[in-house]
Amino acid sequence: MPAELERSVTYLKGVGPKRSELYQKLGISSVYDLLNHFPRDYIDYTATADIKSCPVNESRAVKGRVVKKLPPARIRKGLTVYKAIFTDDTADLTIIIYNSGFAFDKLSVGAEYILYGRITGNMVRKEINSPMFIPADSNEKIQPLYSLTDGLSQQLVRQAVRSALSSFDKKIYEPLPKWIMKENGLCSLDFAYENIHFPKDAHSLDIAKRRLVFDELLSLQLGMNLLRRKNRSRTGCVMHSVSLKRFYDSLPFELTEGQKAAIEDCAGDMCRDYPMNRLIQGDVGSGKTAAAAGAAYFAAANGYQIALMAPTEILSIQHYETLTGFFEKLGIKVCLLTGSLSAKQKKTLKEKIAFGEYQVIVGTHALVQQSTEFNNLGLVITDEQHRFGVEQRAMLAAKGENPHRLVMSATPIPRTLALMIYGDLDLSVLKELPKGRQPVETYAVTGKLRKRAFGFVKERLDEGRQGYIVCPAVEESELDVQSVKSYAEKLAAEDFRGYAIGLLHGRLPSAEKESVMQRFKDGEIDLLVSTTVVEVGVDVPNAAVMVIENSDRFGLSQLHQLRGRVGRGQHKSYCILITDNVTEEIRKRLRILSGTSDGFRISEEDLKLRGPGDFFGSRQHGLPRLKIADMSQDTDILLLAQKTAGLVTESDPDLEAPENKGLREAAQRLFSQKTSD
Ligand code: ADP
Ligand code: MG
Repeated sequence: MPAELERSVTYLKGVGPKRSELYQKLGISSVYDLLNHFPRDYIDYTATADIKSCPVNESRAVKGRVVKKLPPARIRKGLTVYKAIFTDDTADLTIIIYNSGFAFDKLSVGAEYILYGRITGNMVRKEINSPMFIPADSNEKIQPLYSLTDGLSQQLVRQAVRSALSSFDKKIYEPLPKWIMKENGLCSLDFAYENIHFPKDAHSLDIAKRRLVFDELLSLQLGMNLLRRKNRSRTGCVMHSVSLKRFYDSLPFELTEGQKAAIEDCAGDMCRDYPMNRLIQGDVGSGKTAAAAGAAYFAAANGYQIALMAPTEILSIQHYETLTGFFEKLGIKVCLLTGSLSAKQKKTLKEKIAFGEYQVIVGTHALVQQSTEFNNLGLVITDEQHRFGVEQRAMLAAKGENPHRLVMSATPIPRTLALMIYGDLDLSVLKELPKGRQPVETYAVTGKLRKRAFGFVKERLDEGRQGYIVCPAVEESELDVQSVKSYAEKLAAEDFRGYAIGLLHGRLPSAEKESVMQRFKDGEIDLLVSTTVVEVGVDVPNAAVMVIENSDRFGLSQLHQLRGRVGRGQHKSYCILITDNVTEEIRKRLRILSGTSDGFRISEEDLKLRGPGDFFGSRQHGLPRLKIADMSQDTDILLLAQKTAGLVTESDPDLEAPENKGLREAAQRLFSQKTSD
């Protein structure tokens, strides 16, 4: 990067040491940072409206001339009101400016201006309060609006950016190799910076934006590719091929083609001299655990230990049980490290693990990572990994002899996004569900039909099935335990009198959670009233009906994940979404769920509807924060960037060629920031 860009903003005209501290607050220290402080929005003075047809209480730009300036009215001490009459010949508009005689003085009678601001008043007498304005013949008709901090105004930031842009005697610089610009029809970085801040017109702004979005996505993908290379350090756990027949024969079911392929992918990976780094993606119920168990079997047969980490205690217990079911009869010993063990029990267990008495160690992330010494760790399996950042993923590698890594992802995500987020991993996708699964029949109803829905649930319970009711709490973090409790109590006392009801929520002590889940699994509980803690991976095949309250508050992917708790056995299953919010948009969203059971399609729709921020909710996806690209909207540029990154990486995997220096720097810069949340 040229020295001009690395210079501190302090030296820019109009900044200086005092203000540069304010810029620091916005994360801006160098000229480069300032140029990359992209406007959050623009005032578009080109799109003017007739005053006559302007709706009130909305912001508009209007073009006209000042007819008359009224004498200032001093209302009281400290409040002076300036007024002027403005017209565009369709109607008049009264300009009102409080106190700022300075702004008022800039308006001259007879001169033409474009004003921008909120139009108030009524359809007959319209007013505009403290509008922003430019002379009608100004060359800067699209003006940037920046995120600010106390002490900085739009005017000051604009001035600083202008001075930054003009501090280059020549062109700024061009990190992109020529062929990439040509192939993808991109403007120069010089043009892009100029026009993202001070667009000549809407078209130039589009062109500038396209270039900057491309750059960001290219850096992201190249960074991922570099990470993937970095992961290819040697492993001390080179395995050899062993037959999986014993494992396959011991299963109570036939694996799907996808499961078998995933297991063989893993087996192949673990025989190489660099660590496996693989993601198993699959829809809810596609049997990711069984596939991971196949990989674990392979590692155990090679004499290695396997660690399986789950995000919650409930899930780790469940994985423990599933794996015990698979492995006990094969002579592979499984243990469970949980928070509910006493200190003494933990100590004994850890000693046994270090001694190599157990081959498979299951636990929550915290526990397995903390101070656990392994005897011969060869494979680390993590469940629901997309809550963790790229960094954390790399940290897990530090245990043992650089073990192999396998990730099971909780939610299916669109392929383009998977390539980005998991760009440092190889991918195995479980496309089909196990045989005999029937799609969960899904209905969206309003609260008026709640009684009938409950009646329907009762019929299923009477047939011997079990059910879930997801209570009207929003997110686990906003959980109001009292209201959840009284909701459950009411159900137990009224609609579901005589049935065994259990209550599960995130604030229960883990021993209690465990016992509730166990009783539900054992069939002692007919109906489990739960918050979204059931969302992740809980597996009870006899559960065949689910009611979700306030279903409009959840994202589609989350609803799909919740719904995936039923329909896991051979029983026909149902999901009833209750909502009292019947806007067209909500209806459209919920209809997608009734219409398809394809989790990949649902997540694509979800992403389109909500954008990546909401799509991931409060969960980390572990990517660097993007400044300008939006992975849900900029899909076509995303594909171009991915293709380009592939070409670059193929010919120059470590980005060492001189022409790729700028690309390398940009990727490193992006990944050296804090990851987003
Ligand atoms: P998910 O992919 O949602 O994590 P699980 O691994 O929990 O799915 O598997 C869902 C259920 O399907 C479990 O009860 C599991 O035992 C069962 N299962 C897994 N694979 C198969 C298969 N090939 N055939 C039949 N049932 C299977
Ligand atoms: Mg699972």
